[in-house]
Amino acid sequence: MTTHLSRTDPEIYNVIRNETVRQASTLEMIASENFVSEAVLEAQGSVLTNKYAEGYPGKRYYGGCEFVDVAESLAIERAKKLFGVDHANVQPHSGTQANTAVLMAALKPGDTILGMNLSHGGHLSHGHPLNISGRLFKVAAYGVNKDTERVEADELLKIARETNPKLIIAGWSAYPRVLDFSAFRKAADEVGAILMTDMAHFAGLVAAGIHPSPVPYSDFVTTTTHKTLRGPRGGMSMCTAKYAKELDTALFPGIQGGPLMHVIAAKAVAFKEALEPEFKEYQAQIVKNCRALAEELIGHGFRLVSGGTDVHLLLLDLRSKKITGKTAQAALEKAGITTNKNTIPFDPEKPMVTSGIRIGTPALTTRGMKEEQMRTIGKWIAEVLNSPDNDTVANAVRAKAEEMSKEFPLYASRLK
Ligand SMILES: *Cc1c(COP(=O)(O)O)cnc(C)c1O
Repeated sequence: MTTHLSRTDPEIYNVIRNETVRQASTLEMIASENFVSEAVLEAQGSVLTNKYAEGYPGKRYYGGCEFVDVAESLAIERAKKLFGVDHANVQPHSGTQANTAVLMAALKPGDTILGMNLSHGGHLSHGHPLNISGRLFKVAAYGVNKDTERVEADELLKIARETNPKLIIAGWSAYPRVLDFSAFRKAADEVGAILMTDMAHFAGLVAAGIHPSPVPYSDFVTTTTHKTLRGPRGGMSMCTAKYAKELDTALFPGIQGGPLMHVIAAKAVAFKEALEPEFKEYQAQIVKNCRALAEELIGHGFRLVSGGTDVHLLLLDLRSKKITGKTAQAALEKAGITTNKNTIPFDPEKPMVTSGIRIGTPALTTRGMKEEQMRTIGKWIAEVLNSPDNDTVANAVRAKAEEMSKEFPLYASRLK
């Protein structure tokens, strides 16, 4: 019970150590990833993992919940304050769970949902045929306009009228622009649908007030807690007072069992951090960094989907460079820059190949990097993607990336 991990299980100890080194010594540009604070890690790695607490604060199926009740109540209160919502459920194990809970609360199997086309930036949990959302519900999709590469209000309204959904999902995993939530509200009202916004990616920007909030327009709002919001891996479902009871029941006992109290405590810690003035500055810097990176890449002759970015990520269209997303991801990884291949709207390639890559700035901004570093990294990305098969280029960039990483230390106390 008391022996250190390095002695009881050196294999796993080494996995953790190697991963810490990898995170600290490479440039993490996956748009959905971030680095949590030591405080969040401390809460998540706590004895709260031992506690069963099925139910909700004050109404549990187990004894001994007086302290975890405090943690969950704090998480709920802070979430409500952060986003100005009537009701928050902090128990979803992930963003997908947060979405499934809403669908189960608001709909009956067989009802129609209208979400963003997955290949235009939507998410698996918005109606992929293999996801529960696509198996239990009829799925209709809206996409971006071929010319503007943005969701256009009139097209959304037209598809809503044609497909008559019971619930519309606003939200994305790979869309570099801000959605017009009032247009979604209008479409929902027009066809008598419920509106759910999934802000998994941009929740941190919303919390900081530098991105429009979907809360005033939506019946339900869901999010992950680990992307721009910079908390532990997990999800959260929010709603207006009207749906509070249905939502809580749909989550537990509907789709989950006991909550992860250590993760909920870590969510509370992250929400407290997000309420601080520094968090606003952090989120504003994420967006500034992304714009600087976008400008640099455009200067090197790259085309960005929709021509630019308003948020924390951008999508590179690699077709003019005659390489695929798969090749680009592998070449950049060799060069110490972690990204992911991603479909672009109307992508001619398959989802496992793709014509694009998605690049985000939240994680590097957490390390303290600014526009200057983004411009330098933009240059490196251009060098690598202009010669994706050249190992000399990859190795040279990797060495420089490692050097830059050292200037912005991460989890240094864990690497002693
Ligand atoms: C990341 C993401 C999710 C899912 O999050 P998981 O925690 O991986 O289940 C849901 N919706 C959107 C829009 C996302 O980007």
